[in-house]
Amino acid sequence: MLPSRLHTCEALILRSRDHREADRILTLLTPDLGRLDALAKGARKPASRKSGKVEPFMLVRVQLQRSKFLPFVGEVQLLNPFQGCRESLQAIVASSYACELVYNLTVEGEESDLNEEVFGSLLTVLTEVDDEPDRPNLPLCWLELHMLSAAGFEPALEFCVGCGAEARPEPWGFSVAEGGILCPDCIGAIPGGRPLPLEVFKILRFLQRSTWEQVRARRVAQPALSEARNIMREYLNHTLERPLRTTQFERRSGRGLK
Ligand SMILES: [Zn+2]
Repeated sequence: MLPSRLHTCEALILRSRDHREADRILTLLTPDLGRLDALAKGARKPASRKSGKVEPFMLVRVQLQRSKFLPFVGEVQLLNPFQGCRESLQAIVASSYACELVYNLTVEGEESDLNEEVFGSLLTVLTEVDDEPDRPNLPLCWLELHMLSAAGFEPALEFCVGCGAEARPEPWGFSVAEGGILCPDCIGAIPGGRPLPLEVFKILRFLQRSTWEQVRARRVAQPALSEARNIMREYLNHTLERPLRTTQFERRSGRGLK
């Protein structure tokens, strides 16, 4: 429910799907209301003033009107089309994956202190993909860790999830099922534990603790980053109880990318 009859805010468009003959239902991510669906009447008509402004990945300022069912989309002002996010297959897949990840780790209409941070994180990642579409892995891995934390599924990277021992800078393990790192004593004792190379562990912990400004200033070794992403994919599949729709495309189209 909107806080007032008319509400204007910035929004990133996570999804846009056809509805009836001329309308679209938009899934919006906003800094104040979180994720919500809204009905853009007439948006499919070429002459509509909303036409070309309500595509996925776009940043808009939108006026929403309270209604009995879905809020109506009133005036739409395009703030950033993120054109670079739709100019290559890799960019489309990376941007779609980022939006699907955020969609699946947020709850519709949830009032949360983290809404603004989640909005800012996705905005950051779309900005990066827009600028450097062939280097999506670092921003996507950062987004995965920050979205997991915001949703309460933060993987434990400070202590062994088996015995509580404090992490040390040596090769440990990771358990997707237990949701965190395993000390050398617990790797064999916990089913499904896998080795976690030290370099990969350092990347995961650095990304989990850092703002994007801190991350983008650092060089990260590519093979270790790929392995970090593999572990995060497995962990996300387990946490969400199914793979994201774009995961397979993302994995394939991301081969060879930084
Ligand atoms: Zn342990």
